[in-house]
Amino acid sequence: MSRIILNSELLNKVFDGREVTLDDAYQIYQDAESNPHELYRAAEILRNKNKGRIVTYSRKVFFNVVNLCRDTCSYCTYKSEPGDSKISMMSKQDVANLIEVGKKFKCTEALFVTGERPEQKYSKAMEWLKENGFSSTSEFLVHTSEMALKGGLFPHTNAGNLTKSEMNQLKKTNASLGVMLENASERLTGKGMPHEFAPSKNPRARRRVLENAGDLAIPMTTGLLVGIGESPFEIIDSIFTIKSIHQKYGNIQEVILQNFQPKPDTLMQNTPTPQEKYFKNLVALTRLVMPEMNIQIPPNLSPNSYQDFLQTGINDWGGISPITPDYVNPEFSWPQISTVRENCKKSGFDLRARFPTYPEFFHMVDSGVRSRMLEIADLDGLVNEEYLI
Ligand code: SF4
Repeated sequence: MSRIILNSELLNKVFDGREVTLDDAYQIYQDAESNPHELYRAAEILRNKNKGRIVTYSRKVFFNVVNLCRDTCSYCTYKSEPGDSKISMMSKQDVANLIEVGKKFKCTEALFVTGERPEQKYSKAMEWLKENGFSSTSEFLVHTSEMALKGGLFPHTNAGNLTKSEMNQLKKTNASLGVMLENASERLTGKGMPHEFAPSKNPRARRRVLENAGDLAIPMTTGLLVGIGESPFEIIDSIFTIKSIHQKYGNIQEVILQNFQPKPDTLMQNTPTPQEKYFKNLVALTRLVMPEMNIQIPPNLSPNSYQDFLQTGINDWGGISPITPDYVNPEFSWPQISTVRENCKKSGFDLRARFPTYPEFFHMVDSGVRSRMLEIADLDGLVNEEYLI
């Protein structure tokens, strides 16, 4: 890269190929509070260098497998209780039907989402498993993943803190797995904090899941939830936690930065969404800390400004579904893929569909799953455009 001179000495250091330390990152963050433009420029340049002018998304079907959950996060509207109208407990037939619809709509990803081990808390969940012939949610997920793969979709499971042996089972069929770190600060698990009643969100537990996945060479999507009461230092430290796992295991394929949105039926209903400048500064900073990482923001959570994040270093929009809602943020519908494409184009980017696995992580995927992906992949490892016509 030709040397670009910015006013900030620290940012120039990044262009000289020197790693950003935690102290550097905090300083850059503080400098950006008064003038973020150099930070955005630096993030943009690093994205262009490492990812070019292609922005990806994954054409997905969201399988809301079971939304009962052992834990309670203060911001969650996904979780339901027995008797709620929004309760979801999919049968094998429901899964089969949705796979068929997904195929018809040329989706490639089957996103399987569940609450955290619902069978440990609810007899209703135990009954549901029994009716379907299973004794645990993860056994059910192994089965639904097999169904999806046979039906022509590529599974990506996000079921909270799976054990190492559960992940090993899912690796046989899943293109990748996901678990959000949310934040690396244990303070957020304390009294009155958003993860007080969610032991699965303890950062040490989450870290262990990501590390176990690393041991198993499973490509992992993880990320941070921005604006849930963290300090800037805590969130910057969280970016470095993800970086350190990736440095050790090489299995973090993507970092999602998700801006918190308050839900009316939750304890955090009066907590405002983070200011866009704060969110953008963290997105850009993530690119500086991990220049080669795939960095995603969900476009439906910034419906009026998502395209502006292309100027802060992102290269992915995550899963977008043409048929199923975002059950985690039901009030935010997905944008039309054609509109996202148009907005990308206006900003000088090509929108391309990817698999749940990013091309540079294909080597970690089970060979049977990989060969199926390659059947409909182009030479860059993205979904062949002809397949989507
Ligand atoms: S965010 Fe996940 S772990 Fe927390 S309550 Fe909701 S479903 Fe459960």
